[in-house]
Amino acid sequence: MTMQDLTVIAASGIALPDQPFHGRHLISGHWQDSADAATFDRVSPAHGLVVSRSALGGAAEAQAAIAAARAAFDSGVWSRITGKARAALLLRVADLIEANVERIAVLETLESGKPISQSRGEVSGAADLWRYAASLARNITGDSHNTLGPDMLGVILKEPIGVVAVITPWNFPFWILSQKLPFALAAGCTCVVKPSEMTPSSTVMMGELLIEAGLPAGVVNIVLGFGQPVGTTLASHPDVDMVTFTGSTAVGKAISVAASATLKKVALELGGKNPQVIFPDADLDSAADAVTFGIYFNAGECCNSGSRILVHEDIAEAFVAKVTALSRQVAFGDPMNPDTQVGAMISPAHQGKVDAYVKAAVAAGAKVTLGGGALQVPGMGGQFYQPTVVSGVTPEMAIARDEVFGPVLACLTFCSMDEAVALANDAAYGLSAGVWSDSVHTCLDFARRVQAGTIWTNTWMDGFPEMTFGGFKQSGQGREIGRYGLEEFLEIKTVAMRIGRTRPNWVKTR
Ligand code: NAD
Repeated sequence: MTMQDLTVIAASGIALPDQPFHGRHLISGHWQDSADAATFDRVSPAHGLVVSRSALGGAAEAQAAIAAARAAFDSGVWSRITGKARAALLLRVADLIEANVERIAVLETLESGKPISQSRGEVSGAADLWRYAASLARNITGDSHNTLGPDMLGVILKEPIGVVAVITPWNFPFWILSQKLPFALAAGCTCVVKPSEMTPSSTVMMGELLIEAGLPAGVVNIVLGFGQPVGTTLASHPDVDMVTFTGSTAVGKAISVAASATLKKVALELGGKNPQVIFPDADLDSAADAVTFGIYFNAGECCNSGSRILVHEDIAEAFVAKVTALSRQVAFGDPMNPDTQVGAMISPAHQGKVDAYVKAAVAAGAKVTLGGGALQVPGMGGQFYQPTVVSGVTPEMAIARDEVFGPVLACLTFCSMDEAVALANDAAYGLSAGVWSDSVHTCLDFARRVQAGTIWTNTWMDGFPEMTFGGFKQSGQGREIGRYGLEEFLEIKTVAMRIGRTRPNWVKTR
């Protein structure tokens, strides 16, 4: 493989900030360093330079943030105000996000390595999540029971669940925060947020916007640092009523275990090994483009990555050739260049893990039709991985089963609908799936039989705040966004009311 075979965007010379961004904890409305003044640095995965320096939180900071969130919740300053007032604040945050897109997007790209055009889209798109959540804040309703007899009325109330710990990953830091935080706030909860140690800064910027919007102190607190001890403290603390987590399945399981001692609610958005099934009667040009998008978007570091395709055997060879040809034209390289479509890998260790999957597949008999190794982008200091297509993959190979989380497409074949469904469901995960066919019957049959939280027919990765999202099997529990996303943050309370002095006495008085 030579670089001439790929579309590589060399270092564009766009000036980077001359000082690292300084992130601090937000606790009870105050920005603060850690008690011991410890910090940690983030090196840009594309440029090899320190781009942020953040306060390194410990158990003490996590506990202080939990106490602030608890006090704010119990005071009613947010949990007991009107939906109208909550909605007004969420709408102000949405406006502020739109006014700050560029500032947030640049830090997001520097910390994550993703293309600047994508960061701009994610940050401005996040404003819509806040607006949608604002609409829900005014529509929290329960049930009434008017058939319990003339002397009884039953009311089912929905109440905020309480203090919510929000733990987020590095791949879509601002977007995933916005899939959770405005919905928790719309419900009336107070929060402690812990962003990934790889990408803390856009969450700090969110904290600045919340203060500017007028959110009362303590309603949202932010603690920067690592899973151990900040995340573990949040997951196990008795004053936290719920943890909402997006990240790896392994950490999701650890959080479930840590949370079990207090039986707090746990909502998990975890990994995926998402199949796209391509039938011969599909629009194969559109399918090939969507497969290319699905595997290289965010360098494949995406829970919804379309990391395995199941292609009907009659068209498999031609289809993989089509995807390989398109893959050569995807612009890889300097993420600060607006033309770049795919940027850097998050860390050298992660890049090594991705490469090991490709090498193991080749050793097991699969064939690399494009890529298959690291890529030195001229003028850049970080780590990049070539767009990689692996064909001849069989279902038992790790590359067909594990979440590789890189720009690596695994191609398998099938010959009947039954086999396609069986292969699609032969995974520990069940996050999303896609089906390509001109027959609505084929699409519906597959959609109803596949075990996945989201199914796309003749498209890939379209999403809307209205359309709820979440996983089957080991891809998670609970749902985000949409109406169900709000429900996650609500507790249900039954109020049984007697009308008049009609209650018969229990004690038989003598
Ligand atoms: P990760 O699980 O390593 O870390 C996620 C967060 O958990 C980070 O903030 C981390 O500091 C924290 N953490 C780590 N150990 C912890 C512990 N023991 N207790 C509490 N918190 C802890 O995940 P990542 O590498 O940041 O993100 C990649 C993973 O996220 C992938 O598996 C991907 O599929 C998944 N993901 C899922 C979705 C979805 O919606 N389903 C979306 C994006 C990413």
